[in-house]
Amino acid sequence: MSENVNAEIIAIGTELLLGEITDTNSVYLAKQLRNLGINLFYMTSVGDNRQRIADSIRLAFSRADVVITCGGLGPTVDDMTRQSIADATDRELVFHQSLYDEIASRFASFKVTMTKNNSQQAYLPADAITIENPVGTAPSFIVEYGDKVVISLPGVPREMKFLFESRIQEYLQTKYQLGIIKARILKTAGIGESSLDDMLGNVLLNSSNPSIGLAAHHGIIDIRMTAKADDEVIANGMLDIIETQVRERAGQFIFGTDEELLEQVLFETLVANNAHIAVAEAGITNGVVAKLSSMQFDTIISETIETTHPDLIKDFFPDTRDLSLRDTAHHIAQTITNRNGASAGIAILSYPDIDEDQDKNVATVVAVYANDEIKSREYGFGGKNPLTGDWVSRWAMAYVWRQLKEQFDEQ
Ligand code: ATP
Ligand code: MG
Repeated sequence: MSENVNAEIIAIGTELLLGEITDTNSVYLAKQLRNLGINLFYMTSVGDNRQRIADSIRLAFSRADVVITCGGLGPTVDDMTRQSIADATDRELVFHQSLYDEIASRFASFKVTMTKNNSQQAYLPADAITIENPVGTAPSFIVEYGDKVVISLPGVPREMKFLFESRIQEYLQTKYQLGIIKARILKTAGIGESSLDDMLGNVLLNSSNPSIGLAAHHGIIDIRMTAKADDEVIANGMLDIIETQVRERAGQFIFGTDEELLEQVLFETLVANNAHIAVAEAGITNGVVAKLSSMQFDTIISETIETTHPDLIKDFFPDTRDLSLRDTAHHIAQTITNRNGASAGIAILSYPDIDEDQDKNVATVVAVYANDEIKSREYGFGGKNPLTGDWVSRWAMAYVWRQLKEQFDEQ
């Protein structure tokens, strides 16, 4: 059985509180703890003050098993961490001749005179487990205090990471029976976040192990499932069960797992159904045509038309001159399907943006024609600027996949 171990990170340094540096150390440590299967409920930042650091450590002991500090191990007077840990764990600082000799020899090798301050680094809380620091001067250490542990790492990110990966990880894995954490992502397209939320329901979304979270990226929503277990086989089993439940509820919107790309899945669906599509795009650069172009285009596409603006595409379809954007998209999607004998026709027409002066609140239309049926959707953003252009291409891809899948599933 894996143990439930709770940790707290304490980032030490007045620079952090003055907004002068960003606390990337805590971000790194949080990820490492997560990978190890250790719970993290609090991250604290505290300035270089003996009393306040000691208080933070005492508070962390009241709610965590493992306290990891970073920073404040240097030789200067404002490097308080050693003293504060000694205070919080009811012990004195003790001089270590071997540490002193190491520091002295490092200074000698750099041909730099060692100051009295530097010798401070040879003092550690009594009974501390010393962690040599081959990549810097500040030795790191661990103090075991009853059933609690405080691990003290340097503030310099490169040194902190090195010591965590080469020493601390192994210490934690030896001391505790840690389980593992496994994540799996199901990717959905063509559904909004709140609808997906409703569909999955509170029982699933509030489950704690495995836990489920949603992450939306314009047209695509990731359902991230995370399981904590003793080993990988058990974690995978737990994920299989929850995946089945998720698929029962929202399966028709799921196009893939983990790193799968929608365009790849669309391509495979078309090939599997021996289907050809015709595509017309206006005012969008990274649309369906561009996304599919890296694949074996000829096998799936009968015709493509691309223009830089929706007004220009009307030249190819004179009957659309007086039609609205949506009706134009409908007409084009149907025309290109029929004249190519394609399985489906897609029209994505996008103005640079909405134009309130001209009373245009629709900037983009995506239309899909298949099985004698036209489906379309309007969007209030256009394809011209890089940000909304990206939205247009993502939503268009998601909508097209969703409509075509529905048509193929019906057949
Ligand atoms: P040193 O021996 O270099 O003094 P130290 O353990 O005392 O090491 P600090 O003085 O607290 O560490 O920090 C050294 C440098 O490391 C800081 O100036 C900063 O650039 C970086 N640093 C410290 N804490 C963090 C943090 N939480 N996140 C990112 N960088 C940090
Ligand atoms: Mg320092």
